[in-house]
Formats: sequence, C-alpha cells, structure tokens
Amino acid sequence: MIIHLKSNTSTEEADKLGVQSQSIVLHQNGTYILITPSSLKEVPDYLQTHTESSFYMDSDIQLASKKYLPNVREIQLGDATIGGSTKNTVMITGPCSVESEEQIMACAELCVELGVKVLRAGCYKPRTSPYSFQGMGLDGLKLLARMREKYGLAIITEVRDSTHIDEVIEYSDIIQIGAKAMYDQGILRKCGAIKKPILIKRGFGTTLQEFVQASEFVLSGGNPNVVLCERGIRTFETKTRFTLDLCGVAFLKEYTNLPIILDPSHAMGYAYGIADLTRACTAMGVDGLLIETHPNPKVAKSDAAQQLNFEEFRNLYRSVEPVANAVGYHLI
Ligand code: PEP
Ligand code: MN
Repeated sequence: MIIHLKSNTSTEEADKLGVQSQSIVLHQNGTYILITPSSLKEVPDYLQTHTESSFYMDSDIQLASKKYLPNVREIQLGDATIGGSTKNTVMITGPCSVESEEQIMACAELCVELGVKVLRAGCYKPRTSPYSFQGMGLDGLKLLARMREKYGLAIITEVRDSTHIDEVIEYSDIIQIGAKAMYDQGILRKCGAIKKPILIKRGFGTTLQEFVQASEFVLSGGNPNVVLCERGIRTFETKTRFTLDLCGVAFLKEYTNLPIILDPSHAMGYAYGIADLTRACTAMGVDGLLIETHPNPKVAKSDAAQQLNFEEFRNLYRSVEPVANAVGYHLI
C-alpha cells in the first residue's frame, strides 16, 4: 500500500510511522510517502489521522504501478524526452563496447548524421567468460566523455558491479543496469540515491514481476527516473540468442507507468534479423529502441554477430519512422 501523509507531517513523525508500519519512507515533491508491504490492505488506525491519500496494491509492483500513477512517467534522456504525453520513440545506438577513440567517434558521427541523440556503449562488460574482452574500463568512460564534448550526444553506459559504480555514475547521463546485474541490490540502491535516469534490462531468466520489483528498489530509494528494457529471455529455442518477449512488453505497457525500451539486438543475436524485429518493436508503440552498431562488426570485441554496420543501420533507421508514425509515435 502507498500512503501519502498529510503535508503537516514532520520528518520525525514520518520516520516513526514508517518504522511502525514497516514501510519505506520516501520524501517526494514535499510529501512524505509510506510504502508498506503490499500485504497491507487497509490503512491501520494509528495512520488514519496522518493520511492524505492511500493506494491499495495487489502486489509489490507499487510505485511502478498504473494504479498509483496512471500515466507513463516523463523522463529526460539527454535532449530526448520520452514518456509523459510525448509519444516519442527514442533511438539509442552505438557499439556493444567502447574499443578505441576512432571507433567511438565514428559511431558518434553516424548518430549526428541521422539525428540520433543518445549513444550507448559499454566500458565494463558483463561477459560470460573471464577470457573474453572485459571492456576498456575508466579509459573507455573518458573516451565517451570526449565524444560527448565533441558531439553533444548523451551517454548511456552500463554498470557491471559495485567496484566501479561511482565512476559510471559520474561519467554517464543514463546508467544501464544489465541483464546479469539487475538483481544486484547494491547497484539498485545506489541508483536509487541519485536522480540520473536508470535503464534496467530484464534478466534472461527474470519474470515480469521480478523485473518490475527490481525497478521498485530504485524508485523507492528516491529516483523516479527508471526505464525498463526488454532484451530477450531464455527459452527452449537455440536458433536465436534469446526470445524477445513482446507479450511481456504488452503487460508492462498495461500495468506499469515506466517507459519501455526494446533491444532487438541482444534478443536476436544475429544482424540479419534486427531490422525486421526493430520494426515489429516499433509497431508496439514503445518509448525507445536500442540497436548495436559498429563501424566494422566483423572485428568487434564483443557481440560481433549482432552489430549492424553503418549502412545497415541507415537503412533500418529510415524504415522505422513510418512504422512509428503509423501507431501515433514520433521517432526521435
Ligand atoms: C549490452 O547491452 O551490451 C549487454 C551486455 O546487454 P545485456 O545486459 O542485455 O546482456
Ligand atoms: Mn552487447
């Protein structure tokens, strides 16, 4: 249950009531908000006189629920606004990993050429093998910062674990929590303590309930700027890398107030399917798309098979806009 306390409630009182009701106490827009476990179905007597309004919830999808906020949250990703009343579908692209200055600047130039405002590239890669390329680390973040200075693009980059979270927060405009890191409560809580937008990717074995609950850690920590990213789940199918769960996207659109970005690149795992999938994703009316591109995918140090070369991306980009328009969205 979410309980908004009356405006005359003091900090001490809010804290005391929070302890009494086993709630998280959130201070937002001048109001103290108690988030109790969802098993609480009625406002207890001792809270009645302090309560301005209350929202009963049927599960621990609470702050992210449309029962609490009926409209999709408006979130600023650099110069791009998504959610709210915008009906914008933001295109995010860039290589899987930052590999060199030449590579990242070439990707930035492609973005500038097409009007893409947000560049994504990883510096700390969550690889399945310790012998694979692990990312350029801080040197990569510095290259991204130089790219932003030169081209004005917003940076999204991922945090792999808590050892480098502070530097990722410092250098990025949007923080990505990857499919493997989304259960890390240290990362989630730290992202809840800041205001930069957080993009949470769904783990490949994560239920929709667990996925949204991960976002609740960030939201209840005080950061209202959370975006969900569907990137494919593991099924019995082995011909594609993962299975993009578009049914899950329909669920998230229906029941949550968080913008949704779709990542066909990691779901498909192969470049040949990405353009068709991207158009299918766009037709769902979503807040964003995340596509991996590389100046020369054959030599990419991670996710080589799925990255698009620039010509493939240009063609895809041109074909997406009419699809977005057909469902009342604007590609930005
Ligand atoms: C990535 O975005 O490059 C990545 C590693 O994705 P995921 O966390 O979805 O596997
Ligand atoms: Mn990747």
